[in-house]
Amino acid sequence: PAPVITVDGPSGAGKGTISHMLSEHLAWRFLDSGALYRVTGQACLLEGVALADSAAVTQVARHLDVDFKADPQGEILVFYKGQDVSRAIRSEEGGRAASKVAAIASVREALLQRQRDFRQLPGLVADGRDMGTVVFPDATLKFFLTASAAERAERRYRQLLAKGENVSLPRLLEDIKERDARDSSRSVAPLLPAEDAIVIDSTATPIAAVFEQVMKEVTA
Ligand code: C5P
Repeated sequence: PAPVITVDGPSGAGKGTISHMLSEHLAWRFLDSGALYRVTGQACLLEGVALADSAAVTQVARHLDVDFKADPQGEILVFYKGQDVSRAIRSEEGGRAASKVAAIASVREALLQRQRDFRQLPGLVADGRDMGTVVFPDATLKFFLTASAAERAERRYRQLLAKGENVSLPRLLEDIKERDARDSSRSVAPLLPAEDAIVIDSTATPIAAVFEQVMKEVTA
């Protein structure tokens, strides 16, 4: 099988940035597994499916018409039924919906093979929560990125400000803590590093230095 590098961790730990950089650097494919959960949540909102209706949400996940395409700047756009939902799924509401549908075991099951299908030559960088534990337990190299909740909230705050969005830092911190609690206490695929994962805490480390550390392991 093609090689896989997994990058797991809580939201805002820099996984997205690091794994995207890594896939560009290696010219490997990229799997943003969070986007699959986000699109599932978004599809439910669009189709009028209640997030609490596990059976209906699972049907949505099973038949999800989703597509990823890079724009000319290399930014990855996400399409649902041919419609660009990249912005909608990145909202705080989109994140909450994603984390709710992600807590349903049959939804995770429905998305499993779709994620594994991304594993193609020359290789794959997979970004998520359970890439190294559940989806690609035999990955070539596993990373688990983490940072304090306060630092992650602050990064998200700066990101949103730069996009011209009006946000409250205390509210973001609340959201992050709530999502952490839900992601780590759920009974299916709770957020934990794989036993063989390299754990990197980026609370006091700029992203460029984290990438350097990751590259050192990749080339070791
Ligand atoms: O990574 P991202 O913030 O886009 O993920 C959104 C939500 O999807 C997370 O809060 C988590 O609940 C869920 N998720 C997951 N397993 C993954 C990726 C994301 O449960 N592999």
